[in-house]
Amino acid sequence: MIALFSHIGDGVVTTGINRIADWCGITRDSVRRWSEFFGRIPDKWYETVQQCSVDYTGVRFDIEFMETGAKSRSCLRCSRKFMSAGIGNRICDHCKGSEEWQQLINSPE
Ligand SMILES: [Zn+2]
Repeated sequence: MIALFSHIGDGVVTTGINRIADWCGITRDSVRRWSEFFGRIPDKWYETVQQCSVDYTGVRFDIEFMETGAKSRSCLRCSRKFMSAGIGNRICDHCKGSEEWQQLINSPE
């Protein structure tokens, strides 16, 4: 799912979410919920999202590819379940956005 957003957003998940939201005429939060709650594109939006993908990237998004490596994992910091793009992605977006985390990754030691 994250791979889909990243694909449509030229490698940037947030851009992908924004594009899909604009394309479908729904809120960004709704699009985020697809991955958080369903882990897939709802049937109702499937073709619309594929059309969006074609328009922005020139190709439809392969459903097989969507499953690759991306799954629900527990955040190493807060243990909250989140959609991880791959095995190396183990900190949830919520924690990454926290001040503490920013200090952690930007601290000199
Ligand atoms: Zn977390």
